[in-house]
Amino acid sequence: MALIVQKYGGTSVGSLERIENVAEKVIDWRARGHHVVVVVSAMSGETDRLIGLAKGITPRPPPRELDVLLATGEQVTIALLCIALEKRGCPARSYTGGQVRILTDNAFNKARIQDIEASAMRADLDAGRVVVVAGFQGVDEDGNITTLGRGGSDTTGVALAAALKADECQIYTDVDGVYTTDPRVVPDARRLDRITFEEMLEMASLGSKVLQIRSVEFAGKHNVPIRVLSTFQEGPGTLITFEEALEAEQMEKELISGIAFNRDEAKLTVSGVPDRPGIAFSILGPISDANIEVDMIVQNIGRDGTTDFTFTVHRNDYERALEILREHAAQLGAREVSGDHKIAKLSLVGIGMRSHAGVASRMFQALAKENINIRMISTSEIKISVVVDEKYLELGVRALHEAFELDQAA
Ligand code: ADP
Ligand code: ASP
Ligand code: MG
Repeated sequence: MALIVQKYGGTSVGSLERIENVAEKVIDWRARGHHVVVVVSAMSGETDRLIGLAKGITPRPPPRELDVLLATGEQVTIALLCIALEKRGCPARSYTGGQVRILTDNAFNKARIQDIEASAMRADLDAGRVVVVAGFQGVDEDGNITTLGRGGSDTTGVALAAALKADECQIYTDVDGVYTTDPRVVPDARRLDRITFEEMLEMASLGSKVLQIRSVEFAGKHNVPIRVLSTFQEGPGTLITFEEALEAEQMEKELISGIAFNRDEAKLTVSGVPDRPGIAFSILGPISDANIEVDMIVQNIGRDGTTDFTFTVHRNDYERALEILREHAAQLGAREVSGDHKIAKLSLVGIGMRSHAGVASRMFQALAKENINIRMISTSEIKISVVVDEKYLELGVRALHEAFELDQAA
């Protein structure tokens, strides 16, 4: 007998029929003798709808009240799933995040889980009940409702699996695993049997929204094995695993595991600034003071005593960042401040890269062949990212997928 935590995403619980389908699946697992804890998202589109309601009143709703509103989405689905389970004679009990006591910090809209009270859930499981928990939400020390950021139900699933020391955390979604890239963009994308935590973390951080970044971080830290599976078809899915568990041979063969992309960024350039110590700090200091996160940074080689400085931020922060730079331009001695929010970042990810040279040049060649201009480059041990014009995103991803023959198993 195993203890399994299953998380079902928005599409999987998008209608009454689908909720009843989930109930059938849960009952199936239980019939095989397992204890099951289920985490559900809100019905697909519901979180967006609720955000739309709040923004219909004011563009910047108070974060605390937004969380009170957003948490209702998941409260609907836990109740409906329990109703569907009980109808089938399966004892079940629903819990909101606060009722479990998923304790978080008080950073509304992006709270972090600090602690989970597992005793009530354990008692239910011992009594033969299925436990159904609302994803994406928790409660802070003062009893305020908090939410965990978009896609946060993944993190609830993994955190519950860690707290309950579950044997596996199954993430059920609308694709049957983690693919070499988003199958919506590249129909030839291939499902991976396994991917390491490290690679999955890079993929998620670089834009693959199949798992929330924090859920992967959490799983890596607490040794929770995750399997990504389809709600709608049978199959082995993708196991997110530790590097040691991968055979050395397999690691060496697979140069690149996947391609991630992200169109949520924008870039800003300060041109003609004096090339002197402290200039990077003078430019980025005010940006960081405004709580704007910077991703890629490039400073050109100086010429004639001046240099150009370019960096990227989340697209939502673009206008604000531009404003700040313009306010400081004179003080910085800059010739010009410019920006572009129609950019996209393409990234190759793979632990095989560590031991193989030539990945970058193969990447640049593939993009050059399609006449795609690279605007920025950044690398780390297991990834290479480039910034290109947004209009080349799909073309670029497909070209790279082909150049690295990702449609074929190594
Ligand atoms: P859920 O609502 O179940 O949480 P999400 O929409 O958050 O589902 O995540 C699943 C989606 O992630 C897929 O429909 C797919 O389009 C997208 N996706 C992006 N990158 C990948 C990838 N590398 N492998 C699989 N799916 C991906
Ligand atoms: N309902 C939330 C969202 O849409 C959380 C989730 O689905 O994971 O972001
Ligand atoms: Mg999701």
